[in-house]
Amino acid sequence: MLGLSNALVHNALLDAWAVLVPVDCAGCAAPDRALCPACRGSLAPAPAWHQLPDGTPAVSGLDYAGTVRQVILAFKEKGRTDLARQLAAPLTVALEQIAPAAGRMPPELAPVPTSRASYRRRGYDPVAILVRRAGLSASRVLRHSRGTLEQKTLDMESRSRNLAGSLRAAYPLNGRSFILVDDVMTTGATLAEAARAIREAGAAVTAAVTVAHTARLIPGDSSSS
Ligand SMILES: [Zn+2]
Repeated sequence: MLGLSNALVHNALLDAWAVLVPVDCAGCAAPDRALCPACRGSLAPAPAWHQLPDGTPAVSGLDYAGTVRQVILAFKEKGRTDLARQLAAPLTVALEQIAPAAGRMPPELAPVPTSRASYRRRGYDPVAILVRRAGLSASRVLRHSRGTLEQKTLDMESRSRNLAGSLRAAYPLNGRSFILVDDVMTTGATLAEAARAIREAGAAVTAAVTVAHTARLIPGDSSSS
């Protein structure tokens, strides 16, 4: 009986080890490398300026395509939190770029929180990990409003309709000033909703930064080719 339970523990440890120790490159699946040198090179920061739908200036650190996309997906959806260090670098560069435009220094950071459903699925909040890994401090000023759990079941049109009001400030923010932080910017609608929630709580939102952006989907974006 003791032997059987030891075997079970042993197998559980091996499973845990396989999860904890990455064996394939997150970018190209080359074996035995967490991130091979070539893929590491493609994460070199390439900051680009954008504008949220509400006019707020934003800077992203990378183009969300190819290797970058693979690495971010592995980080967000496959438990590869070991990639946070590599992805924190482009976020830091984006923040350095936007800081002069953001006014007050040092700025307060407001990370866009992961939804409750995503948190249950992943077991972690990717943006919170990135902020920590970048050596930055941030307040958890944003919360998901009740009802966002059902977002997943809605079609695209209903989703964008429901995005309005999906975030709220956790407490009054009178007189404070924030830079929003998120992982990937697509249309900028989520960041605009985050800005709306913070402004509604009495604070200013001067800028936004993301690790990456999807170039073609940002309305009015002229900074990326
Ligand atoms: Zn690779």
